[in-house]
Amino acid sequence: MAKWVYMFTEGNADMRNLLGGKGANLAEMTNLGLPVPQGFTVTTEACTQYYEDGRQINDEIMAQIMEAIDKMEGITGKKFGDKENPLLVSVRSGARASMPGMMDTILNLGLNEEVVETLAKASGNPRWAWDCYRRFIQMFSDVVMEVGKKYFEELIDKMKEEKGVKLDVELDADDLKKLAEQFKAEYKEKIGEDFPTDPKVQLMEAVKAVFRSWDNPRANVYRRDNDIPYSWGTAVNVQMMAFGNMGDDCGTGVAFTRDPATGENGLFGEFLTNAQGEDVVAGVRTPMHISEMEQKFPEAFTQFKEVCNTLETHYRDMQDMEFTVEHGKLYMLQTRNGKRTAQAALKIACDLVDEGMRTEEEAVAMIDPRNLDTLLHPQFDAAALKAATPMAKALGASPGAACGKVVFTADDAVEWAARGEKVILVRLETSPEDITGMKSAQGILTVRGGMTSHAAVVARGMGTCCVSGCGDITMDEANKKFTLGGKEFHEGDAISLDGSTGAIYDGIIPTVDATIAGEFGRIMGWADKYRTMKVRTNADTPADAKKARELGAEGIGLCRTEHMFFEGNRIDAFREMICAETVEEREAALAKILPEQQGDFEKLYEALEGNPVTIRFLDPPLHEFVPTEEEDIKKLADAQGKTVDQIKAIIDSLHEFNPMMGHRGCRLAVTYPEIAKMQTSAVIRAAINVKKAHPDWNVKPEIMIPLVGDIKELKYVKKFVVETADAEIAAAGSDLEYEVGTMIEIPRAALTADDIAKEADFFCFGTNDLTQMTYGFSRDDAGKFLDAYYDAKIFENDPFAKLDQVGVGKLMKMAIELGKPVNPNLHVGICGEHGGDPSSVEFCDSIGLDYVSCSPFRVPIARLAAAQAAIAKKNA
Ligand code: PEP
Ligand code: MG
Repeated sequence: MAKWVYMFTEGNADMRNLLGGKGANLAEMTNLGLPVPQGFTVTTEACTQYYEDGRQINDEIMAQIMEAIDKMEGITGKKFGDKENPLLVSVRSGARASMPGMMDTILNLGLNEEVVETLAKASGNPRWAWDCYRRFIQMFSDVVMEVGKKYFEELIDKMKEEKGVKLDVELDADDLKKLAEQFKAEYKEKIGEDFPTDPKVQLMEAVKAVFRSWDNPRANVYRRDNDIPYSWGTAVNVQMMAFGNMGDDCGTGVAFTRDPATGENGLFGEFLTNAQGEDVVAGVRTPMHISEMEQKFPEAFTQFKEVCNTLETHYRDMQDMEFTVEHGKLYMLQTRNGKRTAQAALKIACDLVDEGMRTEEEAVAMIDPRNLDTLLHPQFDAAALKAATPMAKALGASPGAACGKVVFTADDAVEWAARGEKVILVRLETSPEDITGMKSAQGILTVRGGMTSHAAVVARGMGTCCVSGCGDITMDEANKKFTLGGKEFHEGDAISLDGSTGAIYDGIIPTVDATIAGEFGRIMGWADKYRTMKVRTNADTPADAKKARELGAEGIGLCRTEHMFFEGNRIDAFREMICAETVEEREAALAKILPEQQGDFEKLYEALEGNPVTIRFLDPPLHEFVPTEEEDIKKLADAQGKTVDQIKAIIDSLHEFNPMMGHRGCRLAVTYPEIAKMQTSAVIRAAINVKKAHPDWNVKPEIMIPLVGDIKELKYVKKFVVETADAEIAAAGSDLEYEVGTMIEIPRAALTADDIAKEADFFCFGTNDLTQMTYGFSRDDAGKFLDAYYDAKIFENDPFAKLDQVGVGKLMKMAIELGKPVNPNLHVGICGEHGGDPSSVEFCDSIGLDYVSCSPFRVPIARLAAAQAAIAKKNA
């Protein structure tokens, strides 16, 4: 019989796949002898089984849960539903990878009318007992039965109004008792049944709800963003309650062993007296700093500090812990490696190396490459920032510089961002449902909440700038406006946020580009030391190339030459070339283009200082470049000595039903060899000139022919490329060497790579097209149905962002295996978008690519991902 349930005493930290992170760490803390309220974990496999059984908990799992309850009763001496000494539990989710706030939690489970009366009497604290009960009804109704929080919030607000009080804590036992009754009536009205009184029934429903929450929309979005497979499932932890809401000698807190925003070494956290855990993370009340806890709860605080040391030394990483103090006694409810900003991640990793806790390789492996992205975004211009006066200061909950227009709802943030606006989402407090809006925003500003509120945690995870807990704001969400610093702000007004200092500014503060220095530089240095795969960049302009070099690119893996035609009035000559009807007309236009291209290529070679530069010949469907405005058509007609109607007829003739599979790539060179000849001359002349100016540089152009599917295509185009190149070199009396290679971006090229390798000096996987052609769906239109594919669980990720290793990856592997034996000097890279995606980079390393090439700002991400791949391979 399979084992579906583990007592905390049966697990350990290595069992996170089975027990989830929370469950494995509760077990580990138990093993370490820390004060953990005992309980059990229902495994992630049980969750998978629940879905396999059609969203049912089968008898075997149910029986094991009941058995575990018996054992828990033995350990705690309390009994479920007992009138003398009742057992109350929390039911919490816990996946393999932590997903803060994404799934559901139920506290105080086990209460009913009789139990609550017992507790009220036995504890001498009826207010607490009724507070627990009303919270439980509220959470159970919301999470398990999906009644919706708002009905209950309305009842609380009404009660507060009647009593003339402002805060929940001002309601007394009688009020809370009345509320509990009203809640149950509300439940009955909405569900059509009485609120369940049997704790075992409550428990099974709660376990199901947690399993179900694995599939809620926000969890699905979070998983997609964080590369967490759906198949993992979540575990469920059932733990004896410790009460932080029994009075003023109780409380609950969240703390980190180091500052999750900056990485500074030292205890960082928040504590709320007379509260339950949800009050802290929900951000409804603004908690006190952890240092205040030291004064109010000296003994528990001392013990807590010891626990922090024990845990950080044990896990050798910054810990994020939840704890409760019940009548002065400390209970640990959770520990995990804390989520942190990119900045903090770098500092912590470097500090751990300096403190002798981690090796360089481990430090490199600790950083999530995707997080580096935030560090590469622009920062506020220091001078402009100094000159500006903040309107207010709140908590710098997630660093970054954000400027944008104010919006008030998550939906508005999504909508405005979709039409290209930069927005700042301003909310009273955020709830997990806001996640899509938070993703679309440049920054998030909240009125309520602390450093560990949901908004802060989620924003840090996403690398989005967040300033939270700005109590100075008078918010009017209903009318989409707020007042701050005496000024009224409406939807669309611009503000700037500094997520490091928590400062809020009126208007837009200019930003500057980021640089790699300090700890960032140190980690990147280690990454370069341990990686074996090279990292190049996709750059079409000298400015891009320069930026990429600064960020560590070791070459250009793809220069899309067509992009050079968008600058200035170059498009005119390019259009003349496209609309030429004879070779002579085309050659006349190409003659105008040649010096421009040569100049651009020279600048690229200069920027790359002798590192490899791959130049891809003209690729896109030509109709993309034709004029659409009457005025431009007229201009073109005049330049060509043709009528407007003639030009319009030519433009019409360029129309294709399926342009991405039409007249593009090497097919252009086959039909118009003069284009490829011009581009060859430009490449070779530029290289000869730069080589002459810098004899010590290794200038060796790599000419790349796109969209080859048949060896004969490559042979045909290569012939006149080589003839042209050799003639140029001979004419200049140069000894320049060059290579001619091809993109592998059509499945047939991968399938016949052994043939193609006979003619190619290199392969570069164009995985944008290769994905498009392998799946047979358009890279430009897939967005239309991807959401439906996510909902149907056909896809978990966008295959244009994250490489489909199973299908497209198989073609890549095959191409390398076929190509390399035929041409041992063949070098192989990737230049599709996947070249900057960490998991795809790891795959590229595993199949033996020589380099990945990605956009300039993803170069550091690729360097780190390549290092992690190499380190993982070495350790495997
Ligand atoms: C590709 O197809 O992956 C590629 C890099 O070329 P492009 O995106 O220009 O088609
Ligand atoms: Mg392509």
